[in-house]
Formats: sequence, C-alpha cells, structure tokens
Amino acid sequence: MTTDAATDRPIGGYPRIVKRRDAFRVLPNMADYDDARRGFDWTAARALLDGLPGGGLNIAHEAVDRHAAGLHAGREALRWIGRRGERRSFTWADLRAATNRVANALRGIGLQDGDRVFVLAGRIPELYLTVLGALKAKCVVSPLFSAFGPEPIATRMELGAARALVTTGALYARKVAALRDRLPGLEHVILVGEDGAAAEVPGTQDWSALMAAASEDFAIPPTSPEDMALLHFTSGTTGRPKGAVHVHEAVVMHAMTGRYALDLHPDDVFWCTSDPGWVTGTSYGIIAPLVNGVTNLVAEAEFDAATWYDILEKERVSVWYTAPTAIRMMMKLGAAPLEGRDLSALRFMASVGEPLNPEAVVWSQKAFGMPFHDNWWQTETGGIMIANFAAMDVKPGSMGRPLPGIEAAIVERRDGGLSVIDAPMTSGELALRAGWPSMMRGYLHEEARYAKCFVDGWYLTGDLAMRDEEGYFWFVGRADDVIKTSGHLIGPFEVESALMEHPAVAEAGVIGKPDPTAGEIVKAFVALKPGFEAGEALRRELLGHARKRLGAAVAPKEIDFRQNLPKTRSGKIMRRLLKARELGLPEGDLSTLESDER
Ligand code: ATP
Ligand code: MG
Repeated sequence: MTTDAATDRPIGGYPRIVKRRDAFRVLPNMADYDDARRGFDWTAARALLDGLPGGGLNIAHEAVDRHAAGLHAGREALRWIGRRGERRSFTWADLRAATNRVANALRGIGLQDGDRVFVLAGRIPELYLTVLGALKAKCVVSPLFSAFGPEPIATRMELGAARALVTTGALYARKVAALRDRLPGLEHVILVGEDGAAAEVPGTQDWSALMAAASEDFAIPPTSPEDMALLHFTSGTTGRPKGAVHVHEAVVMHAMTGRYALDLHPDDVFWCTSDPGWVTGTSYGIIAPLVNGVTNLVAEAEFDAATWYDILEKERVSVWYTAPTAIRMMMKLGAAPLEGRDLSALRFMASVGEPLNPEAVVWSQKAFGMPFHDNWWQTETGGIMIANFAAMDVKPGSMGRPLPGIEAAIVERRDGGLSVIDAPMTSGELALRAGWPSMMRGYLHEEARYAKCFVDGWYLTGDLAMRDEEGYFWFVGRADDVIKTSGHLIGPFEVESALMEHPAVAEAGVIGKPDPTAGEIVKAFVALKPGFEAGEALRRELLGHARKRLGAAVAPKEIDFRQNLPKTRSGKIMRRLLKARELGLPEGDLSTLESDER
C-alpha cells in the first residue's frame, strides 16, 4: 500500500475525550496501559484461569464449574429476559447442574470428542445451556443465526459435518426438515419445545425429555487447550463466509479481554446485544462474562430503542457491549427517548463489528454522559485485539490500542514478504504478530487460504488502518473496499463519517465506481433520518458539506438516496452489494443478507 496524502490524517479531527482518574466510580482494571503492556506475559494471563482438576483447559469449566465450586455458587450467572418480558435466572450452581445434564445427554446419545453440535435458535436459555454443556462434553459447537434461511443453514452444517443439531420445533419445521436428506451425517436433532411443551416430531428427540433423564453430575473429560471447541462462520460481508476453527485455549483471551477491554468487575451486570450466531455473541455474549464471574444478561428481543433503554434502566446494566448499527438507530431517534431515565448503574459502553463513526462517539458522550468505546477484532482473532480502554482517553474515530500481549502493526506486502510501516498516520494493512491464544487454528477445509493469512510471523487481517504517534489505531477500510481515485487512496469510512456529521444522515455507505478518467469515483449511498426529504436540494447540500469537510479529491462525486442500506444479519453495511448493484454485476453470496430482499 503506498502512502497517500488523502488518507494520512485522523478521521474528523474531533477533540479527545479525556478520562479523569478522580472521576472513575470503579477503579478500572487496567489503570495504566503502558504499565500493563510492559508487565504482561501470557503465563500470568493463563493464571487468571484454574485449568481442569486433572490438567488441561476447558472453556466450560472456566465459565461455569470453577465458579459453581467457589464463592460464586449462589450468585446470578445468567439473567434471561424473554420477548414478552418473561424472566429466568440461573445461579452458577444452577448453570453447573443444567450444563451437566446437557453434557450427559449429548454423551448419552452417543456423541464423542470433537463431534460437531450445531445450535440454531433465538436467544433462548436452552441455547446458552447447550453451548456450555456441549463444550463440557468436548463436542465442537457451531452456533447459527436463527434468522438464516434453509440454504445457509444446510450449507454450514454440510461444511461443518454436523452430527447433532439443537433447535426449536418451529425452526426445524420451517428451515431444516425439508433439507434433512442432504445431511446424512446429521444423526441427532434435538428440539426445544415452545414454552416447555414436548416437541414430538418424527426423526427428532425432545430436549426436555432428554434433560429430565440426564444426571446432574458430570466430570469434564481431560481437554487439551488445543482441542477444537468452536466453529464460527464469518459474517459474509465481503463474500462467502469462512469457517474459523477455534480451540479451548481461546478462553485465556476471553478472560483477559473481558477484564481489560470490557473492564468487567465481579459486581457488574453485563449486557452484550450480539446474537451468538456471530462470534461476538459467543465469545462475549456467553463466555467472557461468565469466566470473569459477572452476571450475564441476555435479552431475547431484537433492537427497539425503548425496549433497550428499559432493559438498561430496570436491570441496572453496568457494562454494555453493542454495535454501530444499533448505535446509528439510537442516534436516528435522538436523545429524547433517554430523557428522565435512571441509567446511573451504567459505567462502561463498548462497540464492535464495524467502524464506529466519530459522530457516534461524540453523540454518546452527550446522550449517555460517556462515550462508546470502540474495539476491533474479527471472527479469525477469536477475541478483542484493539480497544479503547476504560482508563484511556478516547479519540473519537479511533479503534484504540492493542491489548497487552498483542503486537499490532501497519504493514505493506511485498514480493512474498512484508515490511512494517513505522511512519505515523500512514495507511497500510493491519497485521498482528501471530501466536495469541484465541487465534483461529484454521479455516475449515481451506488450508491454502489460511496459510495465505500469515507472512513472516504476522497474521494479515485484510483491513487497512493507520497508527498515530501515541499508538492509537485508525480504521481506514477493508482492503477490498478501498477506493483509488485520481491517484489518491480513500477509505470509505472517512467519507461515510463525514456524511454522518450532517444532521439529515442516518447511515452512509461509500464505494468506488469505475470511471474512465479518475480510475474510480467516490459514490455515496445515504439513508436519511426521519423528517428529511430526499431530493436534489439535499443532494447538493450533502455534496457541499462533504467537499467542505473532506476536500474535492476525497468528497463523493455522486450521492444516491436509499431507504435502507443492504446489511448482513449482524448489521454490517455490505458495500460489495452496493457496488455490485450499482454496476449490474453478479451479487455473489447473499446468504448473510439481513432481509430477504433478493
Ligand atoms: P467476511 O470475512 O465474511 O467478509 P466479516 O469480515 O464482516 O465477514 P467478521 O469477522 O464478523 O466478518 O467481522 C470482522 C470485520 O469487521 C473486521 O475485519 C473489520 O473489517 C470489521 N470490524 C470489526 N470491528 C471493527 C471496528 N471496531 N472498526 C472497524 N471495523 C471493524
Ligand atoms: Mg472478514
């Protein structure tokens, strides 16, 4: 990647949000970043965990059993809030008993070490119990989005060699039953009945009956840290989703990042809004809070601002981990729905999944009295790699600094090798020194692709970023999305962020559109906030606003209005689809598209 003046600047130039030490209600786990980094070693991080009594490491032991055997036994581990306001609560002792039953049931039907258990369900308690119980039984868990259609479900189960599926009666009937012939290896389908009712369907077993018959005692078999634990499919933002293989040792990263990046303290009520169908919903929606001995709140309902604010207020959520797509929806409604609410328990807010526009950080500071702390990672990295930490000043638009133990760099690929770019604020590929505990151990059935991710001991992320003098990283764009116009390299994030500053703009997606003279021109697709009218006048105003903010070389030349932008099920803007549609090209894999607007 060549250096280019157009990308060599921080996004926006917003003032930093300074953290005053005397203003912390709870002392952050990492009070001094540089100190923590200097003193860090992985052996000490491993010591945060117990390990299995006979040696080895199992995620579910760290998340459940060791707490159930200790002081946390009677504390609330999992708090579930149903769509209709129903509630269920599990202490660590309850969780141990319930997940032991799952492990016994899975072993009882003949599942063995390494067998693949797929889970297809909304955010219901049984999903959480299954994931943890299957890990205890040394099965490999692969969670699927319940909103997937039949085809993506079948493809993933075929690829992942599913031996068992835990799902609901309704989802099975709608999405799996008809495709069962294609899945000869799928020996066991276990159905969770609606509202506790038995699910009597041919070729399936009933969850409740299996659990009732299973014992509450289970000893986790010896588990090596290198045993495969989870199979996660990527979001499919840039193409066909890849299956990333993760092992039990990943729990070291979950423990450490929960503590440092999410600043979890034992008294916290933690809410991660991500669905376990995406890696965030498992690593941080299940594992990290439990490993850290923190009450994990699960809300079944999809996004709705009033419902979410109710949850924050009534459940006294103290740490909240969500995504830019939800934050943009909240911004669209303004701060009014927050007025009069008591969010005094809320202490730390974080965001992941997509670039977080600086405007969103500034908005959150105003609306909540604290910023969203952006952090960066991928399915492949298994855990948070770069983050804005609780004690650290936030520079709106930056994804923060690498976790202790993580070496991140900006690099340039060249003839089979690479060189590290040391110059500050110079765009290049974001690379991580290979070897952290939760690094994927492979792409399923794609060895060559996996091998290509590593050069000279670095893992190459496929994302472009810059690093400033203070070691903060700034996202530029995915390598595939970067725009080359008249000799400049432009990251879509910068242009989108500038458009987001305009009061009319709710969301923006920016692409490079081929052009005979410029190579590509910058084209923006914009969705408006309620009360704004799409039209020529607003288009001109937005073009002018962008030119003023970005200069003529970087500002979009064309702006189209859209009701909604195409997104993945996890809420990421699919620029590749905007581009394919603009150019009339094949749309590629659409299995992860949010709505069925195919
Ligand atoms: P696919 O690899 O199938 O195209 P995906 O990359 O969206 O899908 P994920 O692993 O879910 O799959 O997402 C990781 C990617 O999301 C990162 O590589 C990055 O591009 C983007 N991302 C995640 N967090 C951030 C962030 N804080 N800032 C900017 N980008 C982010
Ligand atoms: Mg990716």
